[in-house]
Amino acid sequence: MKHAIISMSLPEFQSVLTEEFGEQKFRAKQIFDWIYKGASFAEMSNLPKSLRQRLDENFTASDLDIVQKLVENKTNTIKYLLKTKDDIIIECVVLSYEYGNTICISTQAGCSMHCAFCVSGKDGLIRNLTSSEMMSQLICSVADTKQPIGHIVMMGSGEPLDNYDQVADFITRVNAPTTFHIGIRNITLSTCGIIPGIEKLMQDKLFINLSVSMHAPFSDMRQAMMPVERTYPIREVIRICEQYRKESGRRITYEYSVIPSVNDTDACADELQRLLKGSDAHINLIGLNEGSEVYAASEESAVTAFGKKLTQRKLNATVRRKLGSSINAACGQLKSRYIDQSTK
Ligand code: SAH
Repeated sequence: MKHAIISMSLPEFQSVLTEEFGEQKFRAKQIFDWIYKGASFAEMSNLPKSLRQRLDENFTASDLDIVQKLVENKTNTIKYLLKTKDDIIIECVVLSYEYGNTICISTQAGCSMHCAFCVSGKDGLIRNLTSSEMMSQLICSVADTKQPIGHIVMMGSGEPLDNYDQVADFITRVNAPTTFHIGIRNITLSTCGIIPGIEKLMQDKLFINLSVSMHAPFSDMRQAMMPVERTYPIREVIRICEQYRKESGRRITYEYSVIPSVNDTDACADELQRLLKGSDAHINLIGLNEGSEVYAASEESAVTAFGKKLTQRKLNATVRRKLGSSINAACGQLKSRYIDQSTK
């Protein structure tokens, strides 16, 4: 089997290249520079042709292969279906904004959180992804788009704080000058509110942007949507997030999918106001995307109307633009249709 360069640090790759292939040490750094720009071995123009050939025969850049690419032209959103070495299909999405490209990556294949509205975790957890597989999602997309990535959001399938060690390793690696060199402040982690994970981020001083999926301000209502509420109630999650904000200096974002007649009442708006008073938090409102069996997709007007209720209560709420829904690339929809098609 070919070695995946992504799974090696620069010193590790240097020893493989010098000891097993008899190459000079400086070549490793040259190759790293190319790989993190998305170049293929053939495109590495400052390497001798013979070396490019040997690399091609013995290595792959990433440990994922692109098996399908779906493009939503209207919004310039691309979804990639990627295959792991053990034949699991995972997904990532590249979103293009005026300020550059953002990649939404998956941190687990499947998810064990069982949120009622989410398709990505419907069948439970398959396995954790490794930090190299997270890095590989970036490699695959830069290799295909030939455009750099400015921001990362961990909002694909999986609960990142349920895979803490690999996610923490990924954050450190992707931030390193020898790889993508993406600033900690350009990385956002979305969580359903795993308190010990938030505490570990503080201990490790990995002060990325934190986005918490709230979706309901009342405990019983949230329990019905998100079983995690029974272990980590939103009230306590908010308390730990306040500590995170103080230590990191980063404002917390709360994600809220508006479900008409369920979580968009005046009582919900009042409770949100009470919970988030003085927190300077930002509330990101989105419509529920289709796919879940429990709830219908929300109309945009319902989302805007609830947003008005929140701003009237002096809360900082914005309605998030919906990208990628035509290719099932929106939030909570990252569960491969590819599998469905190939088994039919
Ligand atoms: N596990 C993490 C990250 C993955 S989900 C988390 O819970 O935050 C990314 C976001 O999509 C979360 O806010 C999640 O609640 C939301 N989401 C899931 N299914 C959705 C759906 N059908 N419509 C809209 N948002 C959804």
